[in-house]
Amino acid sequence: MKFTKLISTLTKLALFADRSIMLCRHAAVVIKNGTPIAWGFNCVRGRESYHAELDAIRSTLLIQNRGFKTKRGVPVNKKINRSLTGAVLVVIRWNGQRFTESKPCYECLSCIKLVGIKRVLFSNSNGDVESHRTSCLSSLHHSVARRAGL
Ligand SMILES: [Zn+2]
Repeated sequence: MKFTKLISTLTKLALFADRSIMLCRHAAVVIKNGTPIAWGFNCVRGRESYHAELDAIRSTLLIQNRGFKTKRGVPVNKKINRSLTGAVLVVIRWNGQRFTESKPCYECLSCIKLVGIKRVLFSNSNGDVESHRTSCLSSLHHSVARRAGL
């Protein structure tokens, strides 16, 4: 991904993360051939918290399978192949001022690998963004998200 496009993507992700009602605000985007396919942020579905990575993957698959145009106002690009094989996923955590730790949890990373995403970029506790080949990434932490104010 070109540097200017990465900066633009990270800026958008911070704005999407601001939509989250969760205590820790995360946002994610699935990118294929340099083009964003679908965006997501952590949220609540029913009684379960839903991580940003899964929200973005779910949006991508829903669009592919059902032709959904938008999800809660999150724009999607309709004109491209929605297959996730070889795609890149970017996930960040935004505290309102800077990026913080957002390495995918065990469950999200399992799903990321299952659908064939080849590379993951995530923000770290230094406010930087790390890039890893999915096959080289492991995660042992389990995350229990909480709503803000609870
Ligand atoms: Zn997760």
